[in-house]
Amino acid sequence: MLKIYNTLTRKVEEFKPINPPLVTMYTCGPTVYEYSHIGHMRRYVGDDILVRILEFNNYKVKQVMNITDVGHLTSDSDTGEDKMEKGARKFGMSVWDIAKKFEKQFFNSADALNIRRPNILMHATDYIPEQIVFIQTLEKKGFTYKINDGIYFDTSKFKTYGRLRGEQKTNELKAGARVEMVKGKKNPTDFALWKFSYPQVSSHPTPGVSSGKRQMEWESPWGVGFPGWHIECSTMAIKGLDTETLDIHTGGIDHIQIHHTNEIAQSEAATGKEFVKYWVHHNFLHVEGNKMSKSIGNIFTVEEVVKRGFDPLALRYLYLQTHYRAEMNFTWGSLEGAQIAYKRLIEEVSEFKNPKIGCAEYEEKFKNAINDDLNMSKALSVVWEIIKSDYPDSAKAESIFRMDQVLGLDLEKAGEKKKRIKIVVPAAIKKLIEEREQLRKRGSYTQADHIRNKIKKLGYNIKDTKNGVEVEKI
Ligand code: AMP
Ligand code: ZN
Repeated sequence: MLKIYNTLTRKVEEFKPINPPLVTMYTCGPTVYEYSHIGHMRRYVGDDILVRILEFNNYKVKQVMNITDVGHLTSDSDTGEDKMEKGARKFGMSVWDIAKKFEKQFFNSADALNIRRPNILMHATDYIPEQIVFIQTLEKKGFTYKINDGIYFDTSKFKTYGRLRGEQKTNELKAGARVEMVKGKKNPTDFALWKFSYPQVSSHPTPGVSSGKRQMEWESPWGVGFPGWHIECSTMAIKGLDTETLDIHTGGIDHIQIHHTNEIAQSEAATGKEFVKYWVHHNFLHVEGNKMSKSIGNIFTVEEVVKRGFDPLALRYLYLQTHYRAEMNFTWGSLEGAQIAYKRLIEEVSEFKNPKIGCAEYEEKFKNAINDDLNMSKALSVVWEIIKSDYPDSAKAESIFRMDQVLGLDLEKAGEKKKRIKIVVPAAIKKLIEEREQLRKRGSYTQADHIRNKIKKLGYNIKDTKNGVEVEKI
């Protein structure tokens, strides 16, 4: 029985889909205005693991992911600029080309990490008419109002607003220092459903004119403009999954306070039904103890990881070691460690041939771990327990290949991978090796040996071969 933490109830719950074996799942996708980094990827590996675990439990998953290619503003309070327009300016390309470029980069990273593609991929810009109809429904039911800069959702009309974030009830979100409030909004928590390209002032310009400043804008019954980010997700989730109540909705923890809280409000206001049964949120990745940020310069992409000599699946292995609800601190040292562990795993598994009759005892343990709110680090430790067990290699192979349907570490390809994967030697060790080389060239062999011992103490053996120095992790 699968158990999963539900942000809505703040409890680990038994997972019971509405129409088993079908599971409907919506995943908030990337906003394609910038490079996707290893923080984003941690989240999507988390979703991929969830889908694989559902399938391991014999569910049939129908997963929709969206691509946000319009309407996601730089500020959550409806005041900022559209991230897409900003990205286009930064890279000197059209918004449409930016969207294409970064969607491609996102999927290249996702593919390298063995993240399987969702069954259905939906671009926000392909569903503008549907979003307009959604807003019209809300309008008819009396949940909207119009101000200069757009059509807004009146959160005071939705009685259970803020349920997902729990601690803050209706309208408690203050229009304080951090939240810049759009003029004319009735409540600080109200949010834009449709933004006008050009604020509508009584004299000029008239509703329905283009600002001439935005590259992406559409006609609507209220004037030329573009949809809000939240309405995109509600519309595509309900349309793509063909249901008004989804089993699972996933996202990052940053989505709880506003984006998902607003998705619930507008969806339930429109349909009168519960929008989502289980809300799953992934925690963030930090780098060397800091938040990832441009000013610190610690935003790394999967391309960078590969350029530094790592196998992308070593990164996947590293992600699996931290529970999805815990904050994860990425360091290059931890990735070096993960690459060593992954390399060992590949080497061990490459010896296993002819999979036959698995080890039921360990498979049971593995399933208990993954079904216990996705305890992947425990699941990995079960893999190592089998490897060290007395079971015949054929049984180990059978079980481990089955487990890899969840892990996604390419273990069936271990034989061919073994030749390619190398440990990545830390910079400090490389420096010591270089110093030792210099000493040897000068004939200072005692000092050179001293350095060799120092390297050994740091956990590496070095061997002098005719091709140069070879390094091994002890
Ligand atoms: P964005 O493209 O900025 O909308 O982000 C896409 C997803 O990646 C969102 O679900 C974010 O929560 C998530 N995300 C962004 N930065 C990080 C990070 N440092 N660690 C984990 N997830 C992140
Ligand atoms: Zn979303």
